[in-house]
Amino acid sequence: MNVLKLDKLSKTYATGDTALNQVSFEVPAGQVLGLIGPSGAGKSTLIRCINRLVEPTAGSITLGGTDLAQLQGAALRRARRRIGMIFQEYALVERLTVMENVLSGRLGYVSLWRSFLRRYSPDDVSKAFSLLEQVGLSQHYNKRADALSGGQRQRVGIARALEQDPELLLVDEPTASLDPKTSRQIMRLIGDACRERHLPAIINIHDVMLAQQFTDRIIGLRAGEVVFDGPPSGLTDEV
Ligand code: ADP
Ligand code: ADP
Repeated sequence: MNVLKLDKLSKTYATGDTALNQVSFEVPAGQVLGLIGPSGAGKSTLIRCINRLVEPTAGSITLGGTDLAQLQGAALRRARRRIGMIFQEYALVERLTVMENVLSGRLGYVSLWRSFLRRYSPDDVSKAFSLLEQVGLSQHYNKRADALSGGQRQRVGIARALEQDPELLLVDEPTASLDPKTSRQIMRLIGDACRERHLPAIINIHDVMLAQQFTDRIIGLRAGEVVFDGPPSGLTDEV
């Protein structure tokens, strides 16, 4: 079972700003955790520590028994492939097709270019196609990413993350650029995917109403510390 465990995770930037101060919590498999808090609370830093875009100052980050905070080089690159990322601005390659963008989740972009020479394996393609069916985009598989709407782009983002067979999903403000109805559809898709696949997920989300409606548990951060941890129904105005 995939469990993500943060133990006394701290980050102080070179500037002296302490973004995270001994943050500890565990996200079990299949749980969708909403991370909320005012700007500057440390939400992005927390997500970036887990995928090691930011170096933690202290503490551990355990996923399936491995301490991600200790990994370097090839082991870190392998571990990153186990983490599916979904971004606010989608981060698609605009001039590639929907299908190619999804395949890049598994192969990475460098291998993706190489694989143009040897063609994709039929298994990769059929898997990508079924993921596109799951997110409701299979009829657009051959469209270029730059021809899609925001909601469609985020569906590609979700399929690309799932193509990696991730053990964890990290989701950074997935709906910040979307209208309310599309936002709800996207949150539902992410939640369903995590529960079906028994993945722990952390969703950094500033929209408290969406967090309450679509997550299983909410953690409120303020000035780098956990100030709320509980069911969405228990959230009070102070958080
Ligand atoms: P949030 O995502 O909740 O808005 P951040 O993680 O971006 O919060 O920021 C938390 C704190 O860390 C803030 O005080 C911010 O100024 C500081 N911080 C974030 N990134 C950096 C950085 N690269 N260098 C120095 N300080 C940073
Ligand atoms: P522009 O943005 O100038 O119109 P394109 O984005 O169409 O150019 O293409 C830029 C480069 O990427 C070209 O070399 C093109 O062959 C290549 N390219 C575009 N789309 C694809 C694709 N789906 N698969 C592989 N290569 C592509």
